[in-house]
Amino acid sequence: MLTDYHLHLRPDDLDASVAQYHTPANAQRYREAAGERGIAELGVSEHIYRFRQALDIWEHPFWVPFARDDIDDYCAFVREQTDLRLGIEMDFIPGGEDRTASLLEARDFDYVVGSVHFIRDGAVDMDDYSVWDSGRSVEEIWRRYFQTVGDSARHGLFDIIAHPDLVKYWSPADLTHTHRRPEGDLRRYYEPAVEGIAEGGIAVEVSTAGLRKPVGEIYPARAFLEMCVDAGVPVALSSDAHRPQDVGAGYRRALELLAELGVRELCVFDKRSRRLQPIDAPAADTAEHADQGAAAAGSSEAAAR
Ligand SMILES: [Zn+2]
Ligand SMILES: [Zn+2]
Repeated sequence: MLTDYHLHLRPDDLDASVAQYHTPANAQRYREAAGERGIAELGVSEHIYRFRQALDIWEHPFWVPFARDDIDDYCAFVREQTDLRLGIEMDFIPGGEDRTASLLEARDFDYVVGSVHFIRDGAVDMDDYSVWDSGRSVEEIWRRYFQTVGDSARHGLFDIIAHPDLVKYWSPADLTHTHRRPEGDLRRYYEPAVEGIAEGGIAVEVSTAGLRKPVGEIYPARAFLEMCVDAGVPVALSSDAHRPQDVGAGYRRALELLAELGVRELCVFDKRSRRLQPIDAPAADTAEHADQGAAAAGSSEAAAR
């Protein structure tokens, strides 16, 4: 049985409104795209910074213009008008752990996807506020990135660590002219991150999003995933799609990688409890879940009319 838990129902554009994208019909488009690719277990995890409650945790200038919507409206929409699992993509904000915990504990998420997109105020994967313009060396940025990922996993805030080597975003391994990837064996950078994830007892995300980014690779690198598997860390599989056609994109390659590393089970989440489900198992229990969801979506559509 396949999963796609790291999904966004809208693009990252400022003007991509809830009114336009948080609709039962849009959720249904994701469900249909997933169905065509044999993905039974589906969840949505919108970025925390799209919600005004995010500013209680962090007031980064990138977040401020985006933080417009109400997180409880989002939760109610997903629960009442879709058949998707309810998640959130939560940035790790060092120093904001208590406020993050309060925000998360006050809602009934099925899972929390934890992300590191910033090192202090510097963005790893954006041109705006870019950490790469900060004057730090590539080696320092990579070292700090994976240390932060490791720290983020230890606080009990998250269930899944998303795109755990996002720092490679700009730098394809086969292009030596890029100056944003250190030389040689990168496992020395990965170590603190893998240690943190293992200590935190949470899952690592295998994300096909990297295939659609300048790096052109799955997150994480094979060596990183190998280290996770050796440390007994379970895997959550996602595409990080921001539009229906990207749901499950690149899964053939991800499944090959998982098979090569002997990973035969994926994490499934319900109300923040985790179990492992064989990849090749039929999705009997989620079919039931989908039926219930379809009924819920039908009734809410009726209510909306
Ligand atoms: Zn992310
Ligand atoms: Zn995402």
